[in-house]
Amino acid sequence: MPQARTRAFVLGQWRSGEQDKRVHLLSLEHGRMQALAPGACRMKNRFGSALELFTEADFLIYYKQDLGHVTLSRVDPVCSRFELVSQSRWIFYFSLMSEALVRFLPLAQPEERTYRMVGATLQAAEKEKNPASLTAYFLAWLLRIQGTMFSAAHCSHCHRPLSDEAWVNLNFRGVVCRECHTHESARLDRECLGFLESIRKKPPDDAPTLSAEAGGLLLRVLTTKLEYDGEFSLTSPRCLREFQ
Ligand SMILES: [Zn+2]
Repeated sequence: MPQARTRAFVLGQWRSGEQDKRVHLLSLEHGRMQALAPGACRMKNRFGSALELFTEADFLIYYKQDLGHVTLSRVDPVCSRFELVSQSRWIFYFSLMSEALVRFLPLAQPEERTYRMVGATLQAAEKEKNPASLTAYFLAWLLRIQGTMFSAAHCSHCHRPLSDEAWVNLNFRGVVCRECHTHESARLDRECLGFLESIRKKPPDDAPTLSAEAGGLLLRVLTTKLEYDGEFSLTSPRCLREFQ
C-alpha cells in the first residue's frame, strides 16, 4: 500500500469496533481525511493522547486508492490543544468549529488556506479572545475560503453601500438594504456589518470583540448559512447558549 506523511489537525474521533477508532483529520496537503486508527482503543496503543480534538501532528498514513480514506500507522504530535479546547468556556465553540469543518469541507481536496486559518484561530484562542467573536470570525472565513460568503458592504439587489443595517437574503447569498428589504427576517446591525467587513483584512488575533447580542446574532446567521449551503444540520450549536 502507498505510504505518505502529512501534517494534520485532529477534528474528532469515535470508536470503531472493539479495538479501533476512526478519526477525522484536516491535512495541510490533502484537506479533510477519514482515518482508521488500528488498536487505538487498547490501553497500550501507539497513538497515546495524539488523537484529541485539534491536536496538530505529523501522521504516517497508508492508503489504497484515495487520500480521503487512510489508515494511520504512526503519529508524532507537534502541538496538543487539549488544555485549551477542553476548557468549559471554549469546549462547545470548538465542537462547533470541528463539526463545521467535518461537514462542510469536501474529502481530499487541498485546503491550505483553511489549514492556516484553523492554526491562527487556535493561536488567537490561547490569548483569551472572546469565544463567540472568534467563532464568528472562524465561520465567516470558512465560508469565504469555500467561496460562498456574502458581501456585507453592498446591497445584493441595488448595490448601494451598506452601513447601518441590512437583512440577510432567504437564500443566504447576500444582504439587502432597507429600501430593498421585503420578507427577509435576519437583520444585521451596524456592529455585525462592521465586524464582517473589518475581518476581511485582519488575522483572528486582531478581530474586534462583539457585544453578546451581536455575537449571538452572527453565530446564528453564519451557522444557518453553513447549514443551508451544505444541506445538512449541525448538532453542536444546541449546546451553545447563543442558540438557546
Ligand atoms: Zn438595496
